[in-house]
Amino acid sequence: MNNSLDKSACADQAGKVAPVINRSRCEGKADCVAVCPYGVFEVRQFTWEELGDISLRGRLKAWAHKRMQADVVSPDACHACGLCLKSCPEDAITLEKFST
Ligand code: SF4
Repeated sequence: MNNSLDKSACADQAGKVAPVINRSRCEGKADCVAVCPYGVFEVRQFTWEELGDISLRGRLKAWAHKRMQADVVSPDACHACGLCLKSCPEDAITLEKFST
């Protein structure tokens, strides 16, 4: 998917909100990586320690997907367009107030 065409859809200035990933839901399918016009996400392998206190279902998912999940690598670049929220098949992303 060409993610360079959707910047006009981003309504807000960067630095106000940023995505937060629900570690019990994410399956690392990378739809967010594909749709985000600002390169906010990457998918990588997390450690069990990084995944923290996730649900039993989340642990099973993480095991099945080799702990590959989306990481928010550039939270300050988020423009609050909401494309990632719509794209995530696991409904694993929320936008929350950004603070450094
Ligand atoms: S809302 Fe999602 S897709 Fe849009 S800029 Fe922020 S992280 Fe990227």
